[in-house]
Amino acid sequence: MFFLVVSLVAVSVMTVILIVRNRRLQENLHQKEKALLEANERFQLVSYTTSDVIWEWDLLTNQVWRNQGIQLLFGHRGEQPRTDMEWWKEHLHPDDREKVFNSMQTAIKRGDEFWSKEYRFQRADGTYAYVFDRSYIIHNGYGEPVKMLGSIMDISTRIHSEKVLRQEAVIDPLTGLFNRRYLEEALDQEIRRAVLNDQTVGILMLDIDNFKQVNDMQGHAIGDRLLRDVAAFLLKNVRGTDIVCRYGGDEFILILPTASMEFSRQRGETLRQGISELDFSTYCNLNRPLTLSIGVAVFPEHGDNLQAAFEAADSALYGAKQSGRNRVCVAGNNHG
Ligand code: GH3
Ligand code: MG
Repeated sequence: MFFLVVSLVAVSVMTVILIVRNRRLQENLHQKEKALLEANERFQLVSYTTSDVIWEWDLLTNQVWRNQGIQLLFGHRGEQPRTDMEWWKEHLHPDDREKVFNSMQTAIKRGDEFWSKEYRFQRADGTYAYVFDRSYIIHNGYGEPVKMLGSIMDISTRIHSEKVLRQEAVIDPLTGLFNRRYLEEALDQEIRRAVLNDQTVGILMLDIDNFKQVNDMQGHAIGDRLLRDVAAFLLKNVRGTDIVCRYGGDEFILILPTASMEFSRQRGETLRQGISELDFSTYCNLNRPLTLSIGVAVFPEHGDNLQAAFEAADSALYGAKQSGRNRVCVAGNNHG
């Protein structure tokens, strides 16, 4: 009898414990479900309100989900993008495709938690946007990668502004030639290369003769147009490897990599002759040919460093002006 009572009490206690535990479990489960639902709602909200593309790639099924950003940012309509990773890969710029995909594969294999990359992504109209793609790599309890969750941001405007700024920093706005700042960097680089390869660099310094008169007689706007035409002529009459800069005012500098003294002098002579034969009569009444004075120096012959070679070309130009203009002077021989 006693054992029966004890057993009944024990069973009742166990039942109560089980009921309480079950209720706790249920509450716990309910709370977890609620948290999951809330998190899901938050995720939906974020993916609706963000201007980025949100994507989720199930690594086990190779299925990709993307939010409406893929349409808003890149014009790919809802039904167009396929739900596999190949579709994304096909839309990477051909020059970026391998390195972007390889870096993603490497991050997954290495067990990284994050992956990010800048690349070009094709819009529906065939043009490319610059994007910044960053994602979390989610692992299961065994540390195996199971999912990637990421966002793609369109950074085309930023990249464009950076490009414009970079260009503006080295381009002369009037003529479109490289400016003085670029010249200094480029000449330094060419001289370093010449030292390494035991080569020469020709430097031609050109200045328009009596250009002030053009401004005075025809006005500044005509003077500008003339400067642009001279710049275009120079660009058209150099080798692809030559660098043409507007040093300032009516002064231009040409860097001729690997050019010998004779080649540089000859090039100067051809340019001088060519300019004097140009016809500006459609917009400018010069009543004389436009002429150039040109100073030529060659590294390392006339100066074994940038400064010395540059000064040699400058003093050769001075010599050309002093000895009557419209001529080419080689450094060390300032009388033409
Ligand atoms: P020289 O034969 O000794 O070279 O004399 P120059 O009259 O050509 O005068 P110089 O080379 O000493 O000065 C260049 C002149 O170019 C000064 C200025 O009136 C003019 N100039 C400088 N920059 C510009 C520009 O951007 N546009 C125009 N239209 N003229 C400029
Ligand atoms: Mg001048």
